[in-house]
Amino acid sequence: MAKLPDKDCTGCEACASVCPEGAITPRPDHEGFLRPVIDEGICTECGLCVERCPVLDEKRGSTDVENPKVYAAWHNDPKIRGASTSGGAFSAFALEILGRGGVVFGAAFDEEFRVCHREVTDEDGLASLRGSKYIQSHVGNTFKQAKHRLEQGKDVLFSGTSCQIAGLQAYLGTQYERLFTVDLICHGTPSPELWRLYLDAMERKYRSKVVGVSLRDKRIRWQTPTMVISFANGSEWAAPLTDSPFQVGFWNGLTLRPSCYACRFKRLPYPADITLGDFWAVELIHPKLERDAGISLVFVNSEKGKKLFEAVSGSLFTKESDLEFVKDHSHLLHSASVPPGREDFFAGLREMPFEEFARRKLKTRGALLRLAAKVRRSLLCCMKSLR
Ligand SMILES: Cc1cc2nc3c(=O)[nH]c(=O)nc-3n(C[C@H](O)[C@H](O)[C@H](O)COP(=O)(O)OP(=O)(O)OC[C@H]3O[C@@H](n4cnc5c(N)ncnc54)[C@H](O)[C@@H]3O)c2cc1C
Repeated sequence: MAKLPDKDCTGCEACASVCPEGAITPRPDHEGFLRPVIDEGICTECGLCVERCPVLDEKRGSTDVENPKVYAAWHNDPKIRGASTSGGAFSAFALEILGRGGVVFGAAFDEEFRVCHREVTDEDGLASLRGSKYIQSHVGNTFKQAKHRLEQGKDVLFSGTSCQIAGLQAYLGTQYERLFTVDLICHGTPSPELWRLYLDAMERKYRSKVVGVSLRDKRIRWQTPTMVISFANGSEWAAPLTDSPFQVGFWNGLTLRPSCYACRFKRLPYPADITLGDFWAVELIHPKLERDAGISLVFVNSEKGKKLFEAVSGSLFTKESDLEFVKDHSHLLHSASVPPGREDFFAGLREMPFEEFARRKLKTRGALLRLAAKVRRSLLCCMKSLR
């Protein structure tokens, strides 16, 4: 019988969701990424998991537009725009679906700050989905829940990375008129275990539980993001992304899931009806747009996506842009490269306390400045002794 993919597995959990016997459980591998583990005692070898795996056989959804239209956009409500990572376009689509009595699925922090997909049925709940969590999200039962809602005749908006949307489409195996999907331009997803180790280290440092996290706060401005962690004792850690070892590992591509280095969904159109990202370099093409509060880059990939986009025209500022220009967006069509030393990195992760590990392997801006100062001092000493 054909096997589920190994290195190429994206962790979308379609196989676990579709297994009629419940024989597949996602479990963390040695790098902390969830992978399907089959209980051979329960498995009947029906082959459905392999048949529905989106990596082995990609089932396209309703994305039928070869050259998607692209827009710069932001939510007209400054509070929503401010609380979102880019321009808050996601919230416009989500609020439209909630307004129709529908439900929205997306990634949220749970009470332990693990990232998990969840269903949201009202505006208050939507706040938990807002903002990028740069950690791979656990899909859990949400594909099954979404199917149940569709069968109840509800409108459903499912958001996630492109591999998760392809996983949902493969799991469903059929098109639903009331299903709307949103995916993201994605640099890749870091290991949930690394995230836990990082938070544990921060809790040790501040001697207090983490009670709030924003991985990209706009308190300075969108172009100069800040990471913010709040603690139960009232302390707050807020710093540029380059000061967090977790962010350093993410942005230099060291901590991503192996499948992210050859992401098969990085081609146009993306699998979802709507694709969202940050409109970096927007000033080169639309110099008059106000950037500091954040600008979303929106791709409309299907007829269904077009109708949803038109439906939110009252709440979203939009300006049509140029597909050829945005094709240069660094993570749109190209995967991150595997940085040298990635394998050693994960092999060494549990060999020492995280604080020590981060000092050696995830050099923050502060650490690099200290290193540069040390090298300068040594050079000056050498020059003096040569005189
Ligand atoms: C792991 C990751 C990598 C990204 N890399 C890039 C990039 O390289 N370039 C770029 O332009 N944009 C990237 N983005 C997208 C960008 O950060 C914004 O999420 C996107 O522009 C939407 O912003 P918004 O303001 O419209 O809404 P927001 O409210 O900020 O976005 C919330 C949306 O993001 C989803 N989401 C949040 N975290 C996760 C997660 N861990 N897994 C799945 N879905 C999640 C929510 O379900 C919701 O749909 C990335 C996002 C993630 C999660």
